[in-house]
Amino acid sequence: MAEQEKEAALPKKENFSEWYNDLLQKGEIMDVRYPVKGLYVWYPFGFNIRRNTYNIMRELLDKDHQETLFPLLIPENEFMKEAEHIKGFEDEVYWVTHGGTSPLDVKLALRPTSETAIYPMYKLWVRSHADLPLKLYQIVNTFRYETKHTRPLIRLREITSFKEAHTVHATWDEAAAQVDEAIRIYTEFYRRLAIPVLPSRRPDWDKFPGADYTIATDALMPDGKTLQVGTAHHLGANFAKTFDITYEDVNGEQVYAHQTCYGVSERSVAALISIHGDDKGLVIPPEIAPVQVVIIPIIFKESSDVLQACESVKNKLEAAGIRVKVDASEDRPGAKYYKWEMKGVPVRLELGPRDLKNNAAMLVRRDTGEKRQVSLENISDEVLSLFGAVQTSLYEKAKQEVEERIFDCSTHDEIRQKITQGIAKVFWCGKKECGLKLEDEIGAGILGIPTGQEPCKGKCITCGTDADMQVYVARTY
Ligand SMILES: [Zn+2]
Repeated sequence: MAEQEKEAALPKKENFSEWYNDLLQKGEIMDVRYPVKGLYVWYPFGFNIRRNTYNIMRELLDKDHQETLFPLLIPENEFMKEAEHIKGFEDEVYWVTHGGTSPLDVKLALRPTSETAIYPMYKLWVRSHADLPLKLYQIVNTFRYETKHTRPLIRLREITSFKEAHTVHATWDEAAAQVDEAIRIYTEFYRRLAIPVLPSRRPDWDKFPGADYTIATDALMPDGKTLQVGTAHHLGANFAKTFDITYEDVNGEQVYAHQTCYGVSERSVAALISIHGDDKGLVIPPEIAPVQVVIIPIIFKESSDVLQACESVKNKLEAAGIRVKVDASEDRPGAKYYKWEMKGVPVRLELGPRDLKNNAAMLVRRDTGEKRQVSLENISDEVLSLFGAVQTSLYEKAKQEVEERIFDCSTHDEIRQKITQGIAKVFWCGKKECGLKLEDEIGAGILGIPTGQEPCKGKCITCGTDADMQVYVARTY
């Protein structure tokens, strides 16, 4: 390894926190040097990953949602309407108090989330049962004055990429079905990112402020902690009563609507780079990768033939809709490999004079390092089918990792030991006091009851009485 490369090497992934911070910089995802705490800047390369990620979300939602955009500023009187909601957010809100040098009559909150921006308009827009269901979403920045340790993409004071959907339904049951649908959409979204997620119903003390209940999805990070990467909330008629969102039902009566909201943030990108990356840098699933194939010309002396061949392979691949780059820079091939491995490009093609004679190229997979010679004849088909294989293998590998790191535990000691590696699964009677006692004693959180859990019987890990459900327990971000 050349001196310059050694200097630039990442810390090993087993030192996850250092590795993560370094990778954000070297992989050009986010720059942490912006001079406001908790605010970070997307590098164009990182933003490209973000765009491809959110394109998948848009594709999934656009089937039966509509995208919209609400204002960033929320007047204090609207923001303060829902008591539970305020309690949940009041310590985190940034306030705009002045316009220029004049104090404002009504203070304006920078949205920490948009219920109180959107629902006053829903009151005007929802008139009759024929307007329902109403399903809108927006992808916006939100602001929260986090007092915990901030971390790029994971815990921020400006969440740059909050996808929030807000739906209105005629009945409680229809809203409940939409919560299930939201979790189905998120599971599919994460499957496209090759990330297996664990949906669970949050305990009551951990639900969204103002909701009837919350179902969340968690991803298992390499250090054994879980990252909440999506939430869906059944709001019942709670906000409808506060914001007076009613509709005329089929009998001509005015009744309260039922609502849901659900969100995903740039934590999706945090999970993506953390779960798939390795000691050499990013590993990006082909669908997300800004550059899907990099072609490296192996040039000795007179080699215009090689460069020409690289361009022609590039054209072929581009014609098949593949995002390609030829790296014809002056760097040595080794330095180029290093650079594009760091960037997580799924496939590398090396093409030298000898390959050219055979009408072939060396194809290298980023995720496994596997190399093989391929004919240039059907190069596009070859690459596209490899993309499918890479996607499947990234997902299967991540899934196996999760399965191996969920542990059935029956004592507090056992939980303490296992949650250093992953997720503990324990019986719980469902009583709040037992749950809180458990969290307190082991210093970790109950994630929730896995959705679709098979019937099971056991003894509560805290009080020993009969329990008919198991819950996930983990250290969380
Ligand atoms: Zn108990």
